[in-house]
Amino acid sequence: TAVATEEEPITPPVQIDYTQLLINGRFVDAASGKTFPTLDPRTGDVIAHVAEGEAEDINRAVSAARKAFDEGPWPKMTPYERSCILFRFADLLEKHCSEIAALESWDNGKPYEQAANVEIPMVIRVFRYYAGWADKIHGLTVPADGLHHVQTLHEPIGVAGQIIPWNFPLLLYGWKVGPALACGNTIVLKTAEQTPLSALYASKLLYEAGLPPGVLNVVSGFGPTAGAALSSHMDVDKLAFTGSTGTGKIVLGLAAKSNLKPVTLELGGKSPFIVCEDADVDKAVELSHTALFYNQGQSCCSGSRTFVHESIYDEFIEKAKARALKRVVGDPFKKGVEQGPQIDSQQFNKILGYIKSGIEAGATLEAGGEKFSSKGYYIQPTVFSNVHDNMLIAKEEIFGPVQSILKFKDLDEVIRRANATHYGLAAGIFTQNLDTANTLTRALRVGTVWINCFFVFDAAIPFGGRKMSGHGREKGIYGLSNYMQVKAVVTPLKNP
Ligand code: ADP
Repeated sequence: TAVATEEEPITPPVQIDYTQLLINGRFVDAASGKTFPTLDPRTGDVIAHVAEGEAEDINRAVSAARKAFDEGPWPKMTPYERSCILFRFADLLEKHCSEIAALESWDNGKPYEQAANVEIPMVIRVFRYYAGWADKIHGLTVPADGLHHVQTLHEPIGVAGQIIPWNFPLLLYGWKVGPALACGNTIVLKTAEQTPLSALYASKLLYEAGLPPGVLNVVSGFGPTAGAALSSHMDVDKLAFTGSTGTGKIVLGLAAKSNLKPVTLELGGKSPFIVCEDADVDKAVELSHTALFYNQGQSCCSGSRTFVHESIYDEFIEKAKARALKRVVGDPFKKGVEQGPQIDSQQFNKILGYIKSGIEAGATLEAGGEKFSSKGYYIQPTVFSNVHDNMLIAKEEIFGPVQSILKFKDLDEVIRRANATHYGLAAGIFTQNLDTANTLTRALRVGTVWINCFFVFDAAIPFGGRKMSGHGREKGIYGLSNYMQVKAVVTPLKNP
């Protein structure tokens, strides 16, 4: 049963110290002096006014990053010294985990326990993982034809522009900043306008850990101004973007029209979660629930099309419905709460619109379907059965707590239907049969397959999409290649 949210919101156990832009290692106001409010999703009230970076501030930040890359001391440090800074940073994140988790939860609406026990520890792990790589990046010697000694140097690209969204503010900060610094780049990072706070706090700690001025610059602000200025900047050497597919197309276009900077994109998804007839139903129900409802349904790789074999379909629906009705919704700072509010009124209204469209299209509403609480952006955990492929709720990314359950008969059919989307981020497969698992794994056109599990996000596991879910991989050894240039060096073995 859900916890009532009509009571006064709990006061977050943290104060807000940093709201300015972080340029060249110092907190400064925006050139225009402007600020914008960041809002509490529990109430819609203002948490803090934050400096609003625009094109002029992006220029200042890029100049600082350029200078830090061209003149040092960052590029002159040994890889081991860079590694030590990243390790020290991870230690500081660990020490301040509860404050950062509180900022993350307050700004985003995600349960505090989820931020403190799952996501911030993952950020710490990612920084330790890439700290370990910093002094292990090297090229090859190449046995080319002819009398030449050939080697490759793996060099940093230069100034990296990074744009992140609001759903996992600090986790995606880690996925981007970690590998870029490990390879020796400098950075201008633009946070999402909904969630600027945790990155500012964390970046202050990174400087405390010994980062030289200008190596990481953080600009809060909006997409069409600050984000677009960064994407089209002539002096930014590489762009990494996580966000919606529509915005991904815009930033790729801006990069192409300016200096052809290489772009990695991690975009939307409509990931299938396939429950075969021989699956452990109880486990599949529980994981399909987490796969969809985790983080209020706001994950790019959420299992948002639950395909269930007809032989277990009725049992699955009953259990999925019962699980959703038990989901604990409430103030994210309350102990035991599984689901907080959606990020903002825009997303809230969009999700309610999708629920309405599901009902109108004839899907069966098994649970939820309405907003929850009179204030804030809470939505009831919602389950639809009898969903068909042509319904909007089966085709479009809802990004909210709405599970769509579809029935299937055989493997060929579910492969065809699972792949019949422009997206290709992830898939879940539930079966005890190795042949079935192998067949599905090979056939699904996605970047990650989870078999009898879901949302396993180790720092070493590459993550990314195919088709309109984007390109490039983050995390793991693959994540390094986004931030390195390969230089071939050829020397005659003997002077002619
Ligand atoms: P959402 O619609 O979920 O907010 P977006 O893809 O629009 O997702 O946002 C992800 C990030 O992209 C945010 O940091 C946002 O400010 C930024 N952004 C939005 N529009 C643009 C744009 N035109 N150019 C560059 N960045 C943008």
